[in-house]
Amino acid sequence: MRGKRILILGGTREARELAQLLTDRGALPVTSLAGVTRRPAHVSGEVRSGGFGGVAGLATYLERERFDAVVDATHPFAAQISRHAAEAATRCEVPIVRLERPPWQAELKESWRRFADTASAAAAIPEGSRVWLTVGRKEASVFFARRGVTGVARMIEPPGIAVPADWAVICARPPFTQADELALIKRENISLLVAKNSGGEDTRAKLAAARESGISVYLVERPAKPAIPTAPTPAAILSMLADLG
Ligand code: NAP
Repeated sequence: MRGKRILILGGTREARELAQLLTDRGALPVTSLAGVTRRPAHVSGEVRSGGFGGVAGLATYLERERFDAVVDATHPFAAQISRHAAEAATRCEVPIVRLERPPWQAELKESWRRFADTASAAAAIPEGSRVWLTVGRKEASVFFARRGVTGVARMIEPPGIAVPADWAVICARPPFTQADELALIKRENISLLVAKNSGGEDTRAKLAAARESGISVYLVERPAKPAIPTAPTPAAILSMLADLG
């Protein structure tokens, strides 16, 4: 891998882990962040920030920077950048692979109601519910607009929109422990958790806490992403990149 220039589309813990593995092996990763988080976590290697300007902008960037490969290591719910990346990489004939953590599977005594998107999950919430919302800042508004529904929205940074008087916003960064999650459910008198099926260990504890406390769980399933070679761990991506030569 020594000297290989790899563009990592990041914003996830796995992207940071891959950047570290690549620098450890003498490769030259450039991690691209959307630039929405004001204080992003430290990343090994070079970092760039901000949108590319759609498929055309990303294609221009790929051509100029002469990458050996692109790794789409964005969050499973970041659908647009994944579409753009697949299209731009194909256009520029740069190999592209995806690093995607597996979705959560229900364990014994876990029962989740599943939704295709946040709008349908919001519409299904019974009036009078006390909701714990963990879908991120971009998608909170459809829940805030629900009449007769109150709760707590947890996100990394403030939502940038008005928060209704009967909702509270908690800004916090994963990982979270099961004890903390249980305490939140009790303190806020929560009856229903809404989460995205993000997968990974950092945010799984809320589902275990929901099972333990007996509250309902609405799980929003992942959007479809382009069909490109995909692996679930940074180590597996490393072998895929090595196979590219
Ligand atoms: P998105 O809807 O797929 O992308 C929106 C636009 O943001 C893209 O068209 C692109 O702008 C820019 N963009 C997104 N990711 C980028 C990256 N890594 N580098 C450069 N530009 C990027 O994405 P999103 O859902 O807003 O997520 C934004 C970032 O947050 C992603 O990098 C993702 O990994 C991370 N994240 C998302 C979630 C989530 O639930 N969606 C959760 C945790 C972390 P241009 O078209 O101008 O290039």
